Amino acid sequence: MSRKLKILFVSTEVHPFAKTGGLADVSGALPPALKKLGHDIRVIMPKYPCTSKAGADIRPLNVDLDIPGFDQKGTLFQSELADSVPVYLIEHDDYYNREHLYGEPGSDYPDSVERFAYFCQAVLEAAKKLDFKPDIIHCNDWHTGLIPVYLKSDPWFAQTKTFFSIHNLGYQGNFPHSQLEVTGLDESLFREGDIEFYGQISFLKSGLVFADTLTTVSPAYSQEIQTPELGFGMEGILQNRQLHGILNGVDYTVWNPETDPLIPANYGPESLAQKKQCREDLIKMFSLQLNKKTPILCMITRLSEQKGIDLIMEIQNALDEQDIALLILGTGESRYESFFLQWSQDRPDRIATALKFNEPLGHRILAGSDMLLMPSNYEPCGLTQMYALKYGTVPIVRDIGGLKNSVQEFNGKTGTGFKFKVPEAKYFLKSLQKALAYFDQTETWKNLMLNGMAKDNSWDASAKQYSRLYQKSLRS
Ligand code: ADP
Repeated sequence: MSRKLKILFVSTEVHPFAKTGGLADVSGALPPALKKLGHDIRVIMPKYPCTSKAGADIRPLNVDLDIPGFDQKGTLFQSELADSVPVYLIEHDDYYNREHLYGEPGSDYPDSVERFAYFCQAVLEAAKKLDFKPDIIHCNDWHTGLIPVYLKSDPWFAQTKTFFSIHNLGYQGNFPHSQLEVTGLDESLFREGDIEFYGQISFLKSGLVFADTLTTVSPAYSQEIQTPELGFGMEGILQNRQLHGILNGVDYTVWNPETDPLIPANYGPESLAQKKQCREDLIKMFSLQLNKKTPILCMITRLSEQKGIDLIMEIQNALDEQDIALLILGTGESRYESFFLQWSQDRPDRIATALKFNEPLGHRILAGSDMLLMPSNYEPCGLTQMYALKYGTVPIVRDIGGLKNSVQEFNGKTGTGFKFKVPEAKYFLKSLQKALAYFDQTETWKNLMLNGMAKDNSWDASAKQYSRLYQKSLRS
């Protein structure tokens, strides 16, 4: 029988309190799944203006977080996630009471070192003040990367093991050496074997070097990041460490077309016909002019280079020649935003662009569309394609990272979607054309949708893998 553990799960975004991408979905769903396995797991994050809009009760704890070197004190608040998982929120108005979580789209706030060096230390201070001595501190992505470093010099955490999960190696938190003082860390740590990365301080590298256990969010990504193509300069470090690839799961209490309150009609494998109402909803909302059998394609995504938007741009003319509609919900780089905006102005009957981050709209688009496009250049896990499967919206994806692990090529009978390996427009287009040809075969397409809807990507299996790894780490 495995032991019940005390786990502190640290993340800078947690659904439903704050979200910019998949990390929030993971942080909102994995802790409740671990709690179901019997662990005493608690989550800790910054308190942003958006956290109070989540509709949850948030209470002050009257605990001050006074970190040497930082003028203003922070304080602690508490709320709950699903399954009564406690969530601690660190309030520090100077740092977190801002419009965005990290900065204007595409950039970090100039005082990011201060904001997250404070956060990392405040997390440890909060654990002490709450007298919650964790067996495991589970850190996520670069903003939490200094925690394993600070922890090593604090005897209170002598028995605590650290986990660092890589959700996206492309975001590293690298800053000039001149800012080392802000972190309060000793100059002796500024060397290649520790926190220095090509002359800069690297939060991500700190996590990769100092954490006891490293995980990534899919098995394929754990291999890919050990190569120069996708290692973002960290491949050497990663080759010297053991990486555990655990595929993210789906929170089916949020993403299930049979119960989703955000879509106009609920449907499931037994009531697929109802999906038509979701399609009608989109046609009306975006004033599309379609034939009865025109497929609706969609993308719900950050508009960044990572997501393979350039490939979409390359096949624009070919798409214009097809009998399709395309809906884009996304925000990000202005060159991509202007491209989609212009395209939808040129073809208002078939192309629609919503340049915003809007969760309810994301659910409606996913439910009413026939296909989801994810031609990513790299994809640590990707959740949207797994949501799409559940909604009977067939994914057409690059065969990489988590997309490789979660979508199986359709062969007319088995399989759940369509994949292309080489990131060139002609292969993407070929894959899309294969999908369109199947779409014309109504019964075959229905079976394809049902294959995807039958997939069980719930968190249970992944949570068990994390639980086993925690136990293993404590034995070593
Ligand atoms: P990433 O974490 O790289 O952004 P994922 O596919 O793992 O990509 O997760 C993205 C999450 O953010 C999904 O829940 C997706 O539905 C959501 N999302 C992305 N862009 C938007 C948007 N503009 N509006 C609403 N939801 C979005």
